Amino acid sequence: QVPLKPGRSLMDWIRLTKSGKDLTGLKGRLIEVTEDELAKHNKKEDCWICIRGFVYNVTPYMEYHPGGEDELMKAAGTDGTDLFDQVHRWVNYESMLKECLVGRMSVKPIAAPKVSLFLHTLIFFQQTTEDETVLCMNTFIIKYVLICLKKVFIFSLLYFLFYSYDWFQTDSLITIVIYTKQKDMNAELVIVDCEDKRLRGEIIVDGYSYLVQVDLDHAVSEEVAVNIAEKVGKVEIILKKKDNIHWKMLGQPCEGHNTFIKRTDRGLFYRKCKLVSKTEVTHDTKLFCLMLPKATHLRVPTGHHVYLKQIITGTEAVKPYTPVLPFLPLDFQEPSDHDGVHIYLMIKIYSCGLFTQALDCLQIGDYISVSNPEGNFKKSQVQTSEDLILLAGGTGFTPMVKLLNFALAEVSCLRTVKLIFFNKTEDDILWRNQLEQLALKDERFEVQFILSQPAKDWVGKQGKISSSLLSEFVKRSRKDSKVLICICGPTPFTEQGVQYLKDLGYSQEEIHAFTA
Ligand code: FAD
Ligand code: NAP
Repeated sequence: QVPLKPGRSLMDWIRLTKSGKDLTGLKGRLIEVTEDELAKHNKKEDCWICIRGFVYNVTPYMEYHPGGEDELMKAAGTDGTDLFDQVHRWVNYESMLKECLVGRMSVKPIAAPKVSLFLHTLIFFQQTTEDETVLCMNTFIIKYVLICLKKVFIFSLLYFLFYSYDWFQTDSLITIVIYTKQKDMNAELVIVDCEDKRLRGEIIVDGYSYLVQVDLDHAVSEEVAVNIAEKVGKVEIILKKKDNIHWKMLGQPCEGHNTFIKRTDRGLFYRKCKLVSKTEVTHDTKLFCLMLPKATHLRVPTGHHVYLKQIITGTEAVKPYTPVLPFLPLDFQEPSDHDGVHIYLMIKIYSCGLFTQALDCLQIGDYISVSNPEGNFKKSQVQTSEDLILLAGGTGFTPMVKLLNFALAEVSCLRTVKLIFFNKTEDDILWRNQLEQLALKDERFEVQFILSQPAKDWVGKQGKISSSLLSEFVKRSRKDSKVLICICGPTPFTEQGVQYLKDLGYSQEEIHAFTA
């Protein structure tokens, strides 16, 4: 994020888009844009970008872009979809940029049919001299083998052999069975929603997503059950018929049904969740408890976040938040992770924050849209560690909550777990009491609070994240112990922290930075 000039906040942008000003310069006309035309608009004062086939004039938006003008200019005059997806595919650009829409990209003429491999080979050898032939032949074969392996083998095999679904019925139940043949299938990899006869079941494995999405033939009751046979990777979605009649078919397939694609190519799915409680954590941070609909099966994995979506003065706004637990469990006998119904979010309300101010206005019983989870943290990163060190700045504490619980409850090889928690003042420390209790209860756990703007009577550590502070607190319990260091906080805090850790000799594999 870069600091924006005064008068350039999201709220100011929303106001500008509603002012009736012609932001495209086309007086409301939509045009068809060719690649050549798009490429001409590549300057700050005349900048068009294509996202998913739609072209936007982003010049008026430049000064309002939270990531800065230079980031936007990286895609000037080109198709910015990949860049956009890498940085923030969750941003609801359609709504934010709707007044900047220039038109659609013109459809390219269909490419000539691909010549066969054999024909390619012939042309290829005709073009090379005899000496080059052997060398080139090897490169050529390797290239084709790789292409075949990657595109045909991986996709076909995964899709056709590993993913398929079936369904059967009894008088009262409909069971949809998905055979993933994935050995470590678990409840976090299955997301099911059923609303108004539309069933959506998504299986997520290694960055890919398999979807079953149908408009059911008949009505079902609100409850949905999910059974997982972890060892064989069989997933059952069980629905209760509303009327005990025989179904002739499961239903009509909807968009994306029975497809296996990259997860990032699947749009984010939202369901409406009810706010059931809102409690104070500190002077500016609250714990929001949201209730999932009865017909939703969703477990947010440790270290992953969800997106909340609200309409703010007529424009959709989306922000990421990392679910926590309702409290820090002190007793690790029972897995306390999730009751399957509630999502807890610890959210700092910024006095001039557009999204958090609107969140704070939500009343108990109000609804808010919650997305599927995202994130790249894997529990296996912790499972082989002997020392776990968590560096958190402010609400960067949120991913550490489930992580801490998982580590202490389920990772037997961990010898030490240390949280180094950076805040401005004592009043900003989240769950201080609970953290201190946990440290007393569990000798593996230690917590260190560091304040950047302490009051005079603060006797603890003070300062900002720095090489010297880290070298004092980040240490292996034994010379050669396996360590994982997780870091989360304001972006510069995280970036600087990662750099200091590298300077101190920790490798990339030993560091995990939580980001969007
Ligand atoms: P804005 O209107 O965007 O900004 C208003 C003012 O608030 C700014 O001028 C600035 O002073 C301050 N501000 C806004 N955003 C930030 C920021 N990111 N860092 C520092 N100051 C800021 N927040 C939580 O409270 N709990 C979470 O669990 C959580 N999880 C997150 C997970 C991810 C992956 C990411 C990327 C962010 C997460 N955030 C979390 C931050 C959250 O997404 C929003 O950025 C934050 O709530 C501010 O939104 P806003 O619209 O109210 O503020
Ligand atoms: P904050 O109270 O403003 O700051 C917390 C601590 O970090 C303070 O000690 C502060 O010191 C320090 N800090 C702030 N900016 C710094 C910088 N540029 N360099 C070094 N230290 C810095 O924090 P917050 O308002 O709670 O914000 C928390 C952040 O965490 C947000 O940016 C949020 O987006 C992010 N977050 C990310 C994820 C994720 O990616 N998964 C999850 C949750 C939260 P100073 O006195 O210097 O300000």
